[in-house]
Amino acid sequence: MRSMDLPQIMRSVTRLLLVEDSEDDEALVLAALRRSELSIEHRRVWNRAMLAAALEEKCWDVVISDHNMPQFDSMEALKMVKASDPDMPFILVSGAIGEETAVAAMRSGAQDFVMKHSLGRLGPVLVREIGEAGIRRSAQLATQHLRVNEALLNSIVNTAADGIAVINASGSIEFANDALARMLGYGSQEMAGVDISQLLHQNAATASFWQDLFSAGSGSTGKPADLQTHARSRDGNVMPVEIRASRMDARGNPKATVVVRDVSERAHSEERMWRLAHFDELSGLPNRLLFRQLLEQALRDASRSNKPVAVLFIDLDRFKRINDTLGHDAGDDVLREVTARLRSCLRDSDIISRFGGDEFVALMRDIDDADAARSAAKRVLAEVAEPYSLQGEDYHLSASIGISTFPGDSIDADALLRNAELALYRAKDQGKNNFQFHSPQMNARSFEHVVLERLLRRAVELDEFLIHYQPQVDVTTGRVVGAEALLRWNHPGMGMMQPGKFIPLAEETGLIVPIGRIVLMRACAQAKAWQDAGAKGLRISVNLSPRQFALTELVADIRNILEDTGLAPDSLELEITESMVMENPEHAASILQELRDLGLMLAIDDFGTGYSSLGYLKRFPVNTLKVDRSFIKDLPEDPDDAAITHAVIAMGHSLRLIVVAEGVETIEQVEFLRLHGCDLMQGYLISKPMPAADMTRYLELRDMLTSRSRAGVTGDLLR
Ligand code: C2E
Ligand code: MG
Ligand code: MG
Repeated sequence: MRSMDLPQIMRSVTRLLLVEDSEDDEALVLAALRRSELSIEHRRVWNRAMLAAALEEKCWDVVISDHNMPQFDSMEALKMVKASDPDMPFILVSGAIGEETAVAAMRSGAQDFVMKHSLGRLGPVLVREIGEAGIRRSAQLATQHLRVNEALLNSIVNTAADGIAVINASGSIEFANDALARMLGYGSQEMAGVDISQLLHQNAATASFWQDLFSAGSGSTGKPADLQTHARSRDGNVMPVEIRASRMDARGNPKATVVVRDVSERAHSEERMWRLAHFDELSGLPNRLLFRQLLEQALRDASRSNKPVAVLFIDLDRFKRINDTLGHDAGDDVLREVTARLRSCLRDSDIISRFGGDEFVALMRDIDDADAARSAAKRVLAEVAEPYSLQGEDYHLSASIGISTFPGDSIDADALLRNAELALYRAKDQGKNNFQFHSPQMNARSFEHVVLERLLRRAVELDEFLIHYQPQVDVTTGRVVGAEALLRWNHPGMGMMQPGKFIPLAEETGLIVPIGRIVLMRACAQAKAWQDAGAKGLRISVNLSPRQFALTELVADIRNILEDTGLAPDSLELEITESMVMENPEHAASILQELRDLGLMLAIDDFGTGYSSLGYLKRFPVNTLKVDRSFIKDLPEDPDDAAITHAVIAMGHSLRLIVVAEGVETIEQVEFLRLHGCDLMQGYLISKPMPAADMTRYLELRDMLTSRSRAGVTGDLLR
């Protein structure tokens, strides 16, 4: 199809299809057109078949048709032409045409009619009609283009993954694509008229976003503006969205195109990344990185609220063994189980983190005092110690815990972690399965112990300690062979305190070292005094604490004390416990040997309550075995205790040890011990522990009653 403007028509050839049966009329028409300066190429047809064939060629610019032809007429020709090309100019030429016919022809699509007697009009009519047909065709083409563009645009808009809307200045949606409708749960036709602000999270930022977009002076097509917000779908689902809107002015009518992108997926993957970076995969607990941030936050809160914070560094003891023997899957199961148990021991507001391996760290916020951490640590130790069922068998684990507190130990997150870890190492050193505070005074069992510790320190300065003595006698002869020195604290307000009340604390704080030295000094001096008063060979037994035993200067200290007091080494017996030597048997053996080399006597105290292996006694150079009171207590009735005591006495003797029974309270017990050959005994039946002055009188009295005539150990006392 061709379209032309007027000068083009003048210049180029106009192809005319003439429907005319008369050659004369053909000549007349051509003559008339020749005058119009149109350059014409034409073909004449005069029946239906010819016209149809010509129209097939689709090369005509205009059709001029006679009205009356034999077997054919202009109305039929018009119908055929318009059917072939509705825009083809059709001009009727007739000698005598009625007005009605002309109107009917025009109605059916003819462009004009020209009477044969005024053919002079034909040229200008042709020019006009060809021109208008061109314009009609251009317009049609433009519309077609527009339609194509619109279809293209529609397909772009509707296949876009992002939601697209056009809104007016009042925020009402005028158009929304399918994606937006789908995203927000609307039908594709339901969005028109909806207010966009109802679909989005409403806050100050969103409100000013739309306001800025439409505010006067922002130009007809503003720069696109972006907004991160949340959209709410019809069913209440909230999703993070990114919005890009640009304003356009449609004939002074401001509108905006809004592109809405659902970024949930991205938000999810960002969250996944964040989780990977901040959580431990195995346990699901926060990792070190996140814990550190949470700790800092907690410290900031705590410095405002003035509440203490505790950090518990928890490490499983010998966890590696499980991994090595049962494999990593079993190890992982245990770690997950431990995670659950830790959760059960702590409050929901506490944070538990896994630092890796078998290291867990707990953060306790908003606690009243260190006692909360202490109780939590106890719960953790107890829970972790419960058996783990692995591959059908029960396994046991323990944990060691180091605790630091804010603000006592530090106000700095890193320092708190470091302090807790240092305390953990101490807990491991103390034989594992225990907890230690970083601050020594916190290791005491409660606040009262903090007070008690202060008092105890003062007691050392003010020398409020006394020693009571309990005699040890020969089971068969009743002869006094020695005495055990037992510590007492005579506090001015609290009265006489038994060692059970304060020795553990003295032990924990290390105060037992100076206190123990006082006991040794005083007991040795006292023994020497008794010996000098006649109790020749009287032996003094002094209890040694694990702390003292661990002192490198122990042997030198004792040598000095013996020198200072003048007591013979074999008159001093040190009482140690099984656990003290079993902690590090090699080291213990060498220390014990050094003490033996000094000439001292060594006794194993409370025998039967610890490892109770007579086998190991062979390896240690000890002289005496003290059978714990718990075995003596129910003698002779309890057959188990009877059997054990009997066996211990017999085996002690086979190792050439002196066997001492502790806590003898009845004659029946003495009978049993005598029957089974026990060497020595001590207990309330003979005497309760007593002050030195009473002991002196006791020794005098015993001497009078039992050995005044015989030369006994205490025979010289009265002299
Ligand atoms: P231990 O060395 O086994 O001392 C024996 C304990 O049994 C003493 O308790 C004594 O009073 C008590 N006892 C003796 N005979 C009987 C009896 O017939 N019946 C009953 N029920 N008890 C009896 P004590 O004096 O309270 O001392 C307790 C523990 O404190 C001692 O046990 C010892 O382990 C420790 N201890 C005492 N003095 C010292 C000391 O100077 N240094 C150290 N490191 N520990 C000490
Ligand atoms: Mg003892
Ligand atoms: Mg004992």
